[in-house]
Amino acid sequence: MPNANGLLDIRNLVKHFDISGGLLDQFRFENGKLVRRRTTVKAVNNVTFNVKPGETFSVVGESGCGKSTLARTILRLYPPNAGEIYYRGKRIDKLTQEKMLPYRAKMQMIFQDPYASLNPRMTVQKTLEEPVYFHNKSISSTEVKERVATVMELVGVDPKWAGRYPHEFSGGQRQRISIARALTVDPEFIVADEPVSALDVSIQAQILNLLMDAQQKRGLTYMFITHDLGVVKHISTRVAVMYLGMVCELAPAAELFQTPMHPYTQALLSAIPVIGELKPKHIQLRGEVPTPINLPSGCVFHGRCLYAKEECREHVPPLREVNTDHFAACFLL
Ligand code: ADP
Repeated sequence: MPNANGLLDIRNLVKHFDISGGLLDQFRFENGKLVRRRTTVKAVNNVTFNVKPGETFSVVGESGCGKSTLARTILRLYPPNAGEIYYRGKRIDKLTQEKMLPYRAKMQMIFQDPYASLNPRMTVQKTLEEPVYFHNKSISSTEVKERVATVMELVGVDPKWAGRYPHEFSGGQRQRISIARALTVDPEFIVADEPVSALDVSIQAQILNLLMDAQQKRGLTYMFITHDLGVVKHISTRVAVMYLGMVCELAPAAELFQTPMHPYTQALLSAIPVIGELKPKHIQLRGEVPTPINLPSGCVFHGRCLYAKEECREHVPPLREVNTDHFAACFLL
């Protein structure tokens, strides 16, 4: 059953991509026989968690571990292969596109590259108006203009620049406009996929402050996708660590950074440079990240884990509570 207090609840979510190609690509000779083989990327595997109203829930992990796929599947930009998604207790993973529309206004996404996510042929005014008209067919043009001016002010872009095009702005200002675009439809839940990774370091803090400010003023809930652990530490309430499409640890941010339990989280956090520390205590993992096409048996991390034992090769460790509100998927704990 979905958590009654949760804004978003996902249960055993699975997203696989079939990359077998055309029919001819799928056939090959093996031991003198013609066999058909399908190839699937197992991007998200059995992910379960809930996001509470008003929190900043971060999902971290190395590039390719399935963070973006998870985010897009939650927002139904990709259809899930299995599992359940609940929004305010209502199951949404099987809704038709039409029935999904009211949820689309409530759940918005901010992308990494603001230049790619804004239409270069639309002025800022048109960019910000479009989603408002789409979700409110009967809204008056005066009200739309007011809404656009309000969000532009909120994100720190002067409304008098509304007639300009995206290329006339800097990267930071473009990301402010992307945030404004998400805010015009008055959302409750925003998924921000690496929202500051493409920006200069000096601009990153400004955009993060803007996001935190908007959260306070509008009571927003965030799901933050990033590989940048420094950012996560400062803005998150809880953090989920992903490895090969699975959540291996989930805990309140302060606790996760202070007492990481899973060997993968420990290695990941040990890679954060510390000012003034000449010899970083970086934990070196064995081997390479396996491909999500052929997932390892048992614990997906066992091939790189410094402490793996027989059980880890054979069985999948469940994500279980190892401390209050602190979950980890490891047999060693
Ligand atoms: P992350 O956001 O953590 O970098 P992604 O979710 O982008 O990871 O990717 C997870 C895995 O799924 C990667 O192996 C990636 O190549 C694969 N993948 C992502 N999108 C697609 C797609 N549309 N088709 C096929 N494979 C995909």
